[in-house]
Amino acid sequence: MIIAIDGPAASGKSTVARAVARRLGFRYLDTGAMYRAVAAEAIRLGRPLEDATAMTGLAETIRVSFAYDSGDPVPYGVFVGSRDVTREIRTPAVDAAVSLVARIPGVRRAMVPLQREFAGGTDTVVEGRDIGSVVFPDAAVKVFLTASPEERARRRVGDRAAAGHEAAVAAVATDIARRDTIDSTREASPLVAAAGARHIDTTGASVDEVVDRIEALVREAVA
Ligand code: C5P
Repeated sequence: MIIAIDGPAASGKSTVARAVARRLGFRYLDTGAMYRAVAAEAIRLGRPLEDATAMTGLAETIRVSFAYDSGDPVPYGVFVGSRDVTREIRTPAVDAAVSLVARIPGVRRAMVPLQREFAGGTDTVVEGRDIGSVVFPDAAVKVFLTASPEERARRRVGDRAAAGHEAAVAAVATDIARRDTIDSTREASPLVAAAGARHIDTTGASVDEVVDRIEALVREAVA
């Protein structure tokens, strides 16, 4: 079974998707980490982010993998080849670059088959922007998570602080809004709520409450 969790930046997707995977014993795939890895590699190599041919070539050749502790479906690390990029893909520079890279159709054409292969018929929670609409349109459970802009900015500032980057709420709110605009208005697989997706507003909700609701959807789907 595939559980597809989509939504805008900092809507709570990662926290919720990880908790769902751990509670249900499903695999977990963070597709945003894959696009972030391409963007981080483009920055490191000094390649122009707007160059569709260069970015497509990079996406076609990059080897992104995840590292796991035994028994935990949530990876502790992200690698490009043998290079640990776990921290690098969460920097403000990658935050600013990733949507420019992810909107290039060739980059998406390279990533989507890898995402389908990762799930490969096993129970998996997949989070992203186009999972219920494009990558797994037949997912048994589709969820579209939202949260108020204020809550999303506060959460992202918390994430940044935990990663050692200080940031002001206003600046983060501007970055989130910019990323959402690019993600929702691009031609290739824009951020949309998929047909049949259940909308869950995570503003003011605890992680457990949201996970309970998704678990109920899973029970409904198998009934
Ligand atoms: O989920 P996260 O915020 O880490 O995603 C980073 C970026 O990757 C998004 O802003 C979006 O541009 C891109 N993305 C995408 N499709 C996905 C997942 C992420 O375009 N399925």
